[in-house]
Amino acid sequence: MSTRRNLAMQEVVNRKPADISYPDKQVSQYFGDSVFGIDAMREFLSEEAFTRVMEAMEKGVTLDRKIADQVAACMKAWAQSKGVTHFTHWFQPLTGTTAEKHDGFFEPIGGGRAVERFSGSQLVQQEPDASSFPNGGVRSTFEARGYTAWDPTSPAFIWGNTLCIPTIFVSYTGEALDFKTPLLKSLSILDKAATDVCQYFDKNVTKVIGTLGWEQEYFLIDASLYNIRYDLQQTGRTLFGHASAKGQQLEDHYWGSIPERVLAYMKDFEYESHLLGIPVRTRHNEVAPAQFECAPVFEEINIAVDHNQLLMDVMEKVAIRHNFRVLLHEKPYAGVNGSGKHNNWSLATNTGKNLLSPGKTPKTNLQFLTFFISTVKAVYEHADLMRACIASANNDHRLGANEAPPAIMSVFLGEQLNKVLEEIEKSVGDKKLSPEEKTALKLSIGKIPDILLDNTDRNRTSPFAFTGNKFEFRAVGSSANCAGAMTVLNSIVAQQLIDFKTDVDALMDNKMDKDDAIFQVLKRYIIESKKIRFEGNGYGDEWKAEAKKRGLSNIPTTPGALEAFISKKTLGLFDNLGILNHREQESRYEIYLETYTKKIQIESRIIADMVNNQIVPAAIAYQKTLVDNIAGLKNVLSAADYKVAAETQIDLAKEISQRVTTIIKSAEAMREERKKANTLDSAKKQAHAYCDKVKPYFEKIRYEVDKLEFIIDDATWPLPKYREMLYLR
Ligand code: ADP
Ligand code: MG
Repeated sequence: MSTRRNLAMQEVVNRKPADISYPDKQVSQYFGDSVFGIDAMREFLSEEAFTRVMEAMEKGVTLDRKIADQVAACMKAWAQSKGVTHFTHWFQPLTGTTAEKHDGFFEPIGGGRAVERFSGSQLVQQEPDASSFPNGGVRSTFEARGYTAWDPTSPAFIWGNTLCIPTIFVSYTGEALDFKTPLLKSLSILDKAATDVCQYFDKNVTKVIGTLGWEQEYFLIDASLYNIRYDLQQTGRTLFGHASAKGQQLEDHYWGSIPERVLAYMKDFEYESHLLGIPVRTRHNEVAPAQFECAPVFEEINIAVDHNQLLMDVMEKVAIRHNFRVLLHEKPYAGVNGSGKHNNWSLATNTGKNLLSPGKTPKTNLQFLTFFISTVKAVYEHADLMRACIASANNDHRLGANEAPPAIMSVFLGEQLNKVLEEIEKSVGDKKLSPEEKTALKLSIGKIPDILLDNTDRNRTSPFAFTGNKFEFRAVGSSANCAGAMTVLNSIVAQQLIDFKTDVDALMDNKMDKDDAIFQVLKRYIIESKKIRFEGNGYGDEWKAEAKKRGLSNIPTTPGALEAFISKKTLGLFDNLGILNHREQESRYEIYLETYTKKIQIESRIIADMVNNQIVPAAIAYQKTLVDNIAGLKNVLSAADYKVAAETQIDLAKEISQRVTTIIKSAEAMREERKKANTLDSAKKQAHAYCDKVKPYFEKIRYEVDKLEFIIDDATWPLPKYREMLYLR
């Protein structure tokens, strides 16, 4: 074996589960200990400050300076009581990760002494250099400053020795430069729109929150192997690798017994997560070997998003303690399942009702149907935007790859609910319902809860499925910030609910009674959005044909999918709702294109590096052994024996030659395409060129490399193989 691979494998063989000791306590005894949550606030804040902060959290009221100073002082006291020395504004720039810059509390006061300070203004606002974060041209060159501003709706927390304050990030001129700003706006608009609609059914509803329960899929790999795979290190995925003979065919990994080392890791990051108030509760093996999942109890969307971002960081850091690396990439390995992050989404009222959960009476069920059908209609209206918000270079490997939701947006409702919608469509006439019709309808609607109770009907191939009391957006990628998808979903549903109210009010103004008006509008929505509903196998080719017939888009790659971000419809939607103006939206589009291009560019370069420095030398070394052997055989064998013996070995040497030649030539041609792409004058053209001209070489080169891996002496091969990386004890 190549020396490095050999050493790495020896380390793997000797691994033991990490021995970490935990306090002998139940989770409830330490859950949220590192969070400046309600309990800590009550303890540390004055009565007045506490009330004002709660107001700010619930209603988004800004805090005045005096209160901010008080909160800061208390936060500091609380944090210091836990050994914290630094603070940071913690935000979510459009890089997709989180950003932090730690500042010490201490301040020299002369005479060689120092004190610890943290003021209200430091809590409320900081000024990072916006030019160093993706800004898509929003930042003008003479004004590089950006602001981070405290988001009191998500509690501060301690991670390491640092007090982290969740913040939004905007440019000096107020434009959003992060994921959180538009998310918060979308949540407040959704609240208003949904609360207004709830008034038809229940006057006690004064607030509606969006809820999110994400399911985080990930792979683990031993750190020693990871450290000698440059592709994994720098791109998050393997750019080469012959399939392991045993992959996931036997379906023996999913929900299998969790390997001990992995379990030790899971317990450790769960412990850290619980301290941080992240309610992770579920853990299991996933479909692919070395693939796992963790899921929390759902929470309010803004908090759930922060928690997911934080969890990804926690998982990465804790993995290192266990000599693992965690792979959050959507497709670390070809040929086995990729990773997603299902976003379970619903709406909850201040009265404790889940709006996507049918109730016990026809009235609450009509409310359920209103939100349910409006969501379906919203997805139908903005299917392309839904596709765009999950698009990334990583996720392209997953969508439509026969093991993940397809790139065609559709909605799965389940047979029973489809029947209910069909019944509404059939029985609601154009005019007022007759008393009999009404009774019949109410009767069928009244059956909904029973239907859902025994509805185990699940469709794993749908990108957007109703699962009993929530919609599950399954196409979101495992490394994505959920905020992107959630902002879109909140916005389109908010818009639809606003339209719904307008439509119903118009009929009521025309003297139609409320229930009739609601049924009328729902019926129209059901008819209009029919095309988006699909119950069959989303992986099948028949669906592609059928979707085409229905006029649904099937956009396989990111550069194409991103177009929907700047369509007239999307620009209008975000602008009307006040979530993102045209400039902000266009800058996002540019940033996503650039990110795409850069990712493909990096992968392309790493391919060339690895081919030149590792693969080709290994192939040639083995070929030399073969050639020497062939020459040597001539001296020891009779001419007749030699002919037979040499033939196969000469063929092998030839095969190596041919593959090496194809590899080198393709890598060179790929570089030429990169050069051409780099000269193009727009982000859009570049992204398309990288997608259509550069990326096709990846497969071409990989094919040859994987064949070489298959025929070359294992001792010579420099890279850890799939069968080694995917195997965990
Ligand atoms: P599964 O989909 O695997 O059957 P669950 O029904 O437990 O599992 O749900 C998976 C995720 O959906 C969990 O994170 C859970 O918290 C979340 N979830 C459940 N109810 C809701 C809801 N009303 N809103 C948002 N997420 C929810
Ligand atoms: Mg699920």
